[in-house]
Amino acid sequence: MAAATVDGSALAGRALAAAGARYMFGVVGIPVTSLASRAAAAGVRFLAFRNEQSAGYAAAAYGFLTGTPGLLLTVSGPGCVHGLAGLSHATANAWPLLMVSGSCDQADAGRGDFQELDQIAATKPFVKLAVKATTIADIPRLVFQALAATVSGRPGGCYLDIPSDVLHQTLTESEAADLIAAATAASNPSPPKHKSLDEGIEKAADLLRRAERPLVVIGKGAAYARAEEAIRKLVDTTGIPFLPTPMGKGVVPDSHPLSATAARSLAIGQCDVALVVGARLNWLLHFGEPPKWSKDVKFILVDVCEEEIELRKPHVGIVGDAKRVIELINREIKDNPFCLARSHPWVEAITKKAKDNVLKMEAQLAKDVVPFNFLTPLRIIRDAILAEGSPAPVVVSEGANTMDVGRAVLVQNEPRTRLDAGTWGTMGVGLGYCIAAAVAEPKRLVVAVEGDSGFGFSAMEVETLVRYQLPVVVIVFNNNGVYGGDRRGPDEITGPYKDDPAPTSFVPAAGYHKMMEAFGGKGYLVETPDELKSALSESFRARKPAVINCIIDPYAGAESGRMQHKN
Ligand code: ADP
Repeated sequence: MAAATVDGSALAGRALAAAGARYMFGVVGIPVTSLASRAAAAGVRFLAFRNEQSAGYAAAAYGFLTGTPGLLLTVSGPGCVHGLAGLSHATANAWPLLMVSGSCDQADAGRGDFQELDQIAATKPFVKLAVKATTIADIPRLVFQALAATVSGRPGGCYLDIPSDVLHQTLTESEAADLIAAATAASNPSPPKHKSLDEGIEKAADLLRRAERPLVVIGKGAAYARAEEAIRKLVDTTGIPFLPTPMGKGVVPDSHPLSATAARSLAIGQCDVALVVGARLNWLLHFGEPPKWSKDVKFILVDVCEEEIELRKPHVGIVGDAKRVIELINREIKDNPFCLARSHPWVEAITKKAKDNVLKMEAQLAKDVVPFNFLTPLRIIRDAILAEGSPAPVVVSEGANTMDVGRAVLVQNEPRTRLDAGTWGTMGVGLGYCIAAAVAEPKRLVVAVEGDSGFGFSAMEVETLVRYQLPVVVIVFNNNGVYGGDRRGPDEITGPYKDDPAPTSFVPAAGYHKMMEAFGGKGYLVETPDELKSALSESFRARKPAVINCIIDPYAGAESGRMQHKN
């Protein structure tokens, strides 16, 4: 009897499972359909999407939420190109993702084969590593190598190309087992050798101790590193106020009395020493420069990426894992402890400013404005989310005004419970994020607060939500378009196409909830506080896919959110 054979698809599926992969997001088709089902048979659950772009955003978010590589599977050529969206987004955000694509037959490359593309060249600008299996025996080794590369150093995207002929090659069961065993053995690296951090740790602790107006800035790299306990301890023992970046929110609870979120301008404008953990001094942090920051501020940067420290040239740079570094700083401080009292002028200034701003905001939030502005529905959503308690829902947020106002109103008291447009300000991430969050965090409800424009990019994935029956409630802030529809002045409504809809406007009062109903999920149309409250309460309780179409006054909110100066 002929020995049973294993083809490239099955070998890839088994290698992914052996390397610890649990989920794969993607779209099947030639030549990877079998790879998806083989991987599933080997224990890697395949989540089938309607578009690779959304699947890629799912894989990116999965990488952030779990600290393990998100997997994206695409077909060749156009599928690979669609996948670049998620691949580049993951790299931009420093999240681990491995994209695996089938590619055309090697023998036909260069002759115009079906969906032919030089996929290594196409992916290279967006990845840390792009490799191609040229024969079946390469597959296990490259799977392990590429997965490891996604999480080493600064996390990011990697690419594995498997040509169609390689997927169809075969070898025997025992050859397959040997190759996987060899790849597994080779992938057990000796523990990383850490450079001595002593000098940096001492300097950092000393600088914080001597600072008059210290601040801890918490980035999403700290959330990724699961540094929450260490950072919480640092804040609690030293009494130093902290400021999270959007996805750093929740590493220390927003409800913590030392949160400087509501006193952001004061905190960054006046701090004299800033310990920045897992955040780049990029546009989101105003490049660490005046006028937003004081020109004399001394930065202590903690980042896993040495190039990042070299780029920013901080007063003290510590290359290392955020959790480990903050634990070491805590240990250093323990030997010679210090703590800013709540009556310390700096702490008092921050807490007072934060309290004043919160009170002002609460006064606005307390009003029931109908037709809805952004604040009224966001308050109702915030309260419904908080009422869920722990484990807190994962909040997905995108859109201009919806995301900006939402960041200020929605509360994160647990780490990694906020997913938004991120470093690139990527729109279209919403539904992919929701699906990733639902599978990565099965105990948490997922609540997406989406602008109607942001939702539109990936709206077809509501079918995916229904197909897998995921506990995701999507609230669409429907204000008839980008920024609120037609906001053109008379000088812009001229010329031969003046009767066309404005570039920013959509069909008014679009029935987004009906899209969900079309697939058998639950849809709600809401225009008043009571309708919204009742839709939230029912859908949160049901833990089934739902879309709440929330009608917003198109004249509420600003163009480009708070980025108007760049538009
Ligand atoms: P944010 O958007 O929250 O400001 P960024 O994406 O700009 O955050 O920065 C995240 C930083 O965290 C990146 O520079 C990345 O290299 C870094 N990082 C990733 N993982 C770790 C880790 N385990 N420890 C420390 N830093 C990390």
